[in-house]
Amino acid sequence: MVTAGVHGNEPSGVYALKTIFAELEKNKPSIKGTFLGVSGNQNALQKGKRFIEEDLNRTWKDKNLQKNQPNSHEQKEMLEIIELLKDYSEEKFPERYFVDCHTTSSDSLPYISVQEVGKNDEFAHKFPGYIVRGFSDIVNGSIDKYFSKQGITGFTFEAGQHTAKSSQANHEAIIWLALKEACMLDLNQVSCYPECVEIFKNKFEDGQKTFKIVYRHGIEDNSEFEMESGFENFEKISEGQLLAVQDGEEIRSKWNARIFMPLYQSQGNDGFFVIEEAD
Ligand SMILES: [Zn+2]
Repeated sequence: MVTAGVHGNEPSGVYALKTIFAELEKNKPSIKGTFLGVSGNQNALQKGKRFIEEDLNRTWKDKNLQKNQPNSHEQKEMLEIIELLKDYSEEKFPERYFVDCHTTSSDSLPYISVQEVGKNDEFAHKFPGYIVRGFSDIVNGSIDKYFSKQGITGFTFEAGQHTAKSSQANHEAIIWLALKEACMLDLNQVSCYPECVEIFKNKFEDGQKTFKIVYRHGIEDNSEFEMESGFENFEKISEGQLLAVQDGEEIRSKWNARIFMPLYQSQGNDGFFVIEEAD
């Protein structure tokens, strides 16, 4: 199962799914299993907005899941996806996999964000590129955390900047690779292969790397926070380096590590994260 457009301002995964389904219908390569594409926040996608009333990637909390009466547009969409999942129960589909497709506001190398639950981490390491562990443990109510809890194996994939053409190409690549790993698709049967997969693989000259989050810099609502300009996601930082200024005070690095998700938009409570390579 591939979910896309959970954030309505991130249509790249939906476009990728359309391309993939067109190819599957045209050339009919054999796959073992059932492939399901789910478009997330439909209403927000139509409007090109991140969400209508609340973030659909934060609604999957126990208090929302336990009631049947949705309080927002997003809770309604959440319940629709849960209803759909009933047709693909573990009894009927003993091995279930997911990829949740996203993009980021600033330019970034694509990466997998994986929660270390069940077989998620093992599955994630079948893919090339960067893998970040632990992000879903910090946030509450994300869809990947819900899927993992249901025993579905998978991860979130951040394909790059929202509107970059390369983001769609990266989404297509990860979906093809997921079909190979989960449904034993022979990629040679796909007309765009190898280009559609190599384009993604070739971004990582240093091969597969695994990172863990070692620090989150949270921001209070009334705080004034300004990230030093020019940081790229995954950029190396060193001890003593100026990272940001908050309420007139300098924030300097205590780490020889890498910066992750530096905040360059006005909204948000996560200033930046620090990640280190995992053993
Ligand atoms: Zn997103």
